[in-house]
Amino acid sequence: SNKIRQPLVAGNWKMNGNSALVAEFNEKLEALNCDAETVVCPPATLMHLFRANSFSLGAQNVSHLNNGAHTGELSVEMLKDAGCTYSIVGHSERREDQQESSGLVALKAKQCIEAGLTPIICVGESLTVREAGNVEKFVGEQLDALTATLSVDDLSKAVIAYEPIWAIGTGKTATPEQAQEVHEFIRGYFTKVDADLAGKLRILYGGSVKPDNAKTLFSQKDVDGGLIGGASLKAEDFISICQAA
Ligand code: PGA
Repeated sequence: SNKIRQPLVAGNWKMNGNSALVAEFNEKLEALNCDAETVVCPPATLMHLFRANSFSLGAQNVSHLNNGAHTGELSVEMLKDAGCTYSIVGHSERREDQQESSGLVALKAKQCIEAGLTPIICVGESLTVREAGNVEKFVGEQLDALTATLSVDDLSKAVIAYEPIWAIGTGKTATPEQAQEVHEFIRGYFTKVDADLAGKLRILYGGSVKPDNAKTLFSQKDVDGGLIGGASLKAEDFISICQAA
């Protein structure tokens, strides 16, 4: 890879997978060797079964609170104890299903950074927003909520994932040009915050990334890798996507 930023490919298993799939990944990804940094984010119930050390482990969500009386939640401390070094925060499915606000997402990211976990912070618009021509306004407001809570130093320890909701799980990938356009907007947004931060910030693309479209997406100037849903559940596909970065 000739990129200034080391590419990152993260697999998001969502509410899928079982111990048999982990066993398959342990075997097939053992020899994974690529330029990109790689992360697998399985359901928390499977984390302890991962053996391969060719990739890092990430969570799909984390509590913004510390250990205590918070039934059903998992803390940064627990995720680190389970071997995680990353956590996805603010995935659009959680913003929708669990009504997570941008403010809460920022608190989760802050909680990760303070504990030394790298948050992969998801942003992205719906089709309605895109068709109304409001992508930059919408994504800009999601980013405003981050900069209201996170310092430049905090943000330097985070990863952003741009995931247009209309491209998630739909097979409708953003074109490389559509992805680049928003990635450039996001990097430009952070340039106004701190130019050095913006130059180093990794911005991943997510939404129907597959082995056959990964290379052109990842070769866009401001696309530093991907957040992979469906295709991250197939070891061969995930490996070839990692190798495309
Ligand atoms: P997809 O999901 O690759 O299945 O579209 C991406 C994501 O939601 O992270």
